Amino acid sequence: MFENKENRTELSELGEFGLIDHLAKHIGLSHPSTLKGIGDDAAVIDQGNGQVTLVTTDMLTEGVHFDLGYVPLKHLGYKAISVNLSDICAMNGRPAQVVVGLGLSNRFSLEAVEELYAGMKLACERYNVDLVGGDTTTSRAGLVLSITAIGTAAKNKVAYRSGAQENDIIILSGDLGGAYMGLQLLEREKEVFKANPSAQPDLEGFDYILERQLKPEPRLDIVELLDSLGIIPTSMIDVSDGLASEILHICKQSGYGADLYIEKIPLDPMTISTADAFNLEPVTCGMSGGEDYELLFTIKASDFEKLQNNPLITPIGHITGKGERARLITPQKEAIEITAQGWKHF
Ligand code: ADP
Ligand code: MG
Repeated sequence: MFENKENRTELSELGEFGLIDHLAKHIGLSHPSTLKGIGDDAAVIDQGNGQVTLVTTDMLTEGVHFDLGYVPLKHLGYKAISVNLSDICAMNGRPAQVVVGLGLSNRFSLEAVEELYAGMKLACERYNVDLVGGDTTTSRAGLVLSITAIGTAAKNKVAYRSGAQENDIIILSGDLGGAYMGLQLLEREKEVFKANPSAQPDLEGFDYILERQLKPEPRLDIVELLDSLGIIPTSMIDVSDGLASEILHICKQSGYGADLYIEKIPLDPMTISTADAFNLEPVTCGMSGGEDYELLFTIKASDFEKLQNNPLITPIGHITGKGERARLITPQKEAIEITAQGWKHF
């Protein structure tokens, strides 16, 4: 239609981030109020009164982002809201409204859609967010959920991916790899069930990692903690694709390198034991697993004292020199270069 058949580039050659970079190159901005367009966790729009509006959208597609074989619709609704609110938090902002785009097939009943909305409503109530609209259409490719979240922040407190400076401390909220291990567990039980439909799923005692996968929480508490301590992060991103991918975004956009210490990366004991059972390296699950929705941010070294020993966060490294690489430092002080590991759905 629009393409010259002899000059066809496969999307898989670019990957998700390559495609976005390519498209962004040809998109200009003309409104002075557009402070940030493509390239961060949310767009930033100046309200002109010292406040900004933050806008972000995320689409979840059946068979790509979730499997209704093991994801209850109520959890899916909750998660769909959570992951969008997480992108508002990742700008150091507070979410206020969401709109919900819904693609449905006749496979879904009213009761099923009500379950989905019960989950969305729960997340909205929990984070004090209003559901203010959306759109409903027919989908021939399974359930599609497209959610847009709107939030606010003081203009001088917005944390971009691009603000990290040499010697800043790199901080992570919570722990990593749990959501990925929860997914491995659900996938395994699905295979067992396919082979033997009378088998009972063996998910008992794995609550933490299952919740990490099925019911992630946006870290609004961290935004509020930083505010109460008078700390403005120099850069921030949420961990949707794994720590490796996210630290590379901060390094690339800030123009600096980073050293992360392997033994500092926070992992829950259940993540470690489940990874061991699956013959996976626990740190790798945190580095490239994804979907943890924790906040990764940098602060000035002079702010560190205010956060020290806080159980909600862990310092995991520091920003290094201009143009340096992102590296993982082993306990033996060897340096391993971190490479791009974003999800490639194409
Ligand atoms: P996140 O993981 O934080 O949701 P993404 O990696 O999905 O961020 O997106 C990175 C940036 O690219 C964001 O600014 C997003 O708005 C933008 N983006 C993603 N897809 C498109 C698209 N199809 N057209 C324009 N901008 C896009
Ligand atoms: Mg994000």
